[in-house]
Amino acid sequence: MPELLPTNLQNLQKKMQSFIDDVLVDIESNLDPDLSQSIPNSILNEVRTRSIENGIWSLTQPSEFGGSEANILEMTVIRETLGQANLRIGNYIFGPQPGILASVEGKLREYYLLPLMKGEKRGAFAFTEPRTIPNGKPTWASLENQELTITGQKSFVSGGSNADFFSTLVNIESKSGTSGTAIVLIDKDSKGISIEREFRSLDGSSHISIILDSVKVPDWHIVGEIGEGMPRALRNISNVRMAIAAKSTGLASWATHFTAEHIKQPHRSGTPLSDREGVRLRIADMLIQVYAMRSILYRTARIANTNNVSSANEVLTAKVFCTEQVGLIIDRAIDLCGGNSLIEGHPLERTYRDIRSLRFAEGASDILRLNLAKDYLESNNLVRS
Ligand SMILES: Cc1cc2nc3c(=O)[nH]c(=O)nc-3n(C[C@H](O)[C@H](O)[C@H](O)COP(=O)(O)OP(=O)(O)OC[C@H]3O[C@@H](n4cnc5c(N)ncnc54)[C@H](O)[C@@H]3O)c2cc1C
Repeated sequence: MPELLPTNLQNLQKKMQSFIDDVLVDIESNLDPDLSQSIPNSILNEVRTRSIENGIWSLTQPSEFGGSEANILEMTVIRETLGQANLRIGNYIFGPQPGILASVEGKLREYYLLPLMKGEKRGAFAFTEPRTIPNGKPTWASLENQELTITGQKSFVSGGSNADFFSTLVNIESKSGTSGTAIVLIDKDSKGISIEREFRSLDGSSHISIILDSVKVPDWHIVGEIGEGMPRALRNISNVRMAIAAKSTGLASWATHFTAEHIKQPHRSGTPLSDREGVRLRIADMLIQVYAMRSILYRTARIANTNNVSSANEVLTAKVFCTEQVGLIIDRAIDLCGGNSLIEGHPLERTYRDIRSLRFAEGASDILRLNLAKDYLESNNLVRS
C-alpha cells in the first residue's frame, strides 16, 4: 500500500484495482498485439460503457457536469494504480475534462465547454511552434473590430485529426487595447486552416501540424483575458504533469514486478537469474528508484492538494524526476529480461516506446529544469525541503 494512505484512499485504490482486474484486463485481452493498429471503436465504446457503470469515467469531471470529480491526491492514487497494470486501454477510461476551458462563461460555455463535457465535441491543444518560424514571429493575431486574424503554425497537435476545435496559444497584437498571449479557440473547419502533416509518434499516438493563414475568429473565442494565455496554459499543465508523474511511477512498479517474475524463471545457464547476486543488485536498484518515485509523487500530490499553496515547482520536479526514472527502470528491465523483450508486441518493448514521449509532453525535462533554476536564482523560490 503506497505511502500510508488513509482509509478512504485505500478504498479508492481497491475500487480501481477491482475495476482493472474484473473488467479492463478482460477487455485488453481482445486487443490486436500489432501496435501499429489503433484501438477499434467497438473496444473504446465498451471501455467507456464499463467505466461509466463502475463510476470511474466521472472521476475527472466536475459535479456541475454530473461528475464526481476526484481531487489531485485521489487522482494520483487512481492513476498510479492504473499505471501498475500497464494497459493500453488505460488512456481511455476517463471522461472528458474541462481543462483549459474550466470556468468559462457565456458563449464559450454554450458552444465549447458544454458540448466538450457531453462528448459531442473534441478539443486539442495547439501550443508548440515549429522548430523554425517564418519571420521569427510565433503564431500571432491582429485584433480589429472584435475580430482576430490569426497567422502562424503549430507543429504538434495531439489528437488533432479527430478534434473539432483547437485551444491555441496566440500572441495578440491590438492597435487600440491590450496586447499579449491568449488562448484562442479555433474551429478546425475555419477558412484558412490547413493540415500540413499527419503523423504518429513512437508511443503510437497520432498528431497533426497545422498552418493558420489569416484565419478569422470572433474575439469571444479568447479564453480569459489577453495577456494571460501563458499562465492559463500553465495552470492546466500542472494537473497533467501530475498525471504523467503518477503514470510513470505506476509503470516503474509494473516493470520491477514484471522483471522479478521473469528472472525467477529457469534460465539456460542452469540457475535462474534471480539467484545471481549481480542481478539481485540491479533489482534492488529498481526497488530503490520506485521507492524514491513514490515518495516524491505522494508528497507532491499532498502539497498540490492543499488549498492556497503554490505547488508548480514541486509538480514540475516530480514530473522531471518520475519520467526520467521510469526511463532508466524500463531500460534496466530490458537488460535483465534479454533480447526477447525488444520483440515487437512484447510488453517491455511497448512500454519502452510509451514512456519516451513523457519527457517531452507538457514541457521537456531541460526546459522545466531551466524554469526551476530561474525561479530559485531570480525569485528565491524554493522547492519545499
Ligand atoms: C507524444 C507527444 C505529444 C505532444 N503533444 C502536444 C500537443 O498536444 N500540443 C502541443 O502543443 N505540443 C505537443 N507536443 C510537443 C511538446 O510539447 C514539445 O515536443 C516540447 O515542448 C519540446 O519542444 P520541441 O519538441 O519543439 O523541442 P525544442 O524546443 O526544440 O527543444 C529540444 C531540446 O533542446 C533543449 N532546449 C530547448 N530550449 C532550450 C533553452 N532555452 N535552453 C536550453 N536548452 C534548451 C532541451 O533539451 C530540449 O529538450 C507533444 C510532444 C510529444 C512527443
